[in-house]
Amino acid sequence: TNDINAQSIQTPEILQHYPLCARILQKQLSFNSHLKYGGRQQLGLFLKGIGLNVDEALKFWSQQFLKKINQEKFNKEYKYNIRHNYGLEGARINYKPWDCATILAKAKPSKDEYHGCPYRDLSVNNLISNLNELGIEDQHQINEIMDDVDKRDYSIACTRVFELTHQKELKASSGAVAESMHINHPNLYFDRSRQLER
Ligand code: SF4
Repeated sequence: TNDINAQSIQTPEILQHYPLCARILQKQLSFNSHLKYGGRQQLGLFLKGIGLNVDEALKFWSQQFLKKINQEKFNKEYKYNIRHNYGLEGARINYKPWDCATILAKAKPSKDEYHGCPYRDLSVNNLISNLNELGIEDQHQINEIMDDVDKRDYSIACTRVFELTHQKELKASSGAVAESMHINHPNLYFDRSRQLER
């Protein structure tokens, strides 16, 4: 059964499985009732990847945006793109969620943009406060993550964060699920996190 819908993706039960890139996009979307194009694409395709269907996607995005704009403007400016991502408009390509390499190959976010990879794109202080929010406060652990960042091994930093935030689950699970795995896709992070919960 698919428990992913416009409501559930705003609950901690689902949000806890998001990698930092998607967390930040969701946080900024809630905060501003808006995201610029790059962020809408990155988060929108991630959400498609976790199983949000097009009707629920339209519900979700309009709920967020309608705090600031009216339905007419939403339909005119945003609806097409959402349907487009699901292959329902234009060339009808069924777009895939972006992997980390694709995200890192795109233009970096400028002011008021929140797409990209936080391990590359956030300031050191901002990244550390985000790590703290994830419960990572040990200085040695933070230093290790920052070493990965300095080496531009962003997805290794992300994998490390995954392992630190899933220590209990990883210990309790066995076999293939417990094996360490390099996370190179936001949706892999999500899927693996949910898998460990079961
Ligand atoms: Fe997202 Fe990939 Fe960066 Fe992790 S490494 S935050 S999954 S883009």
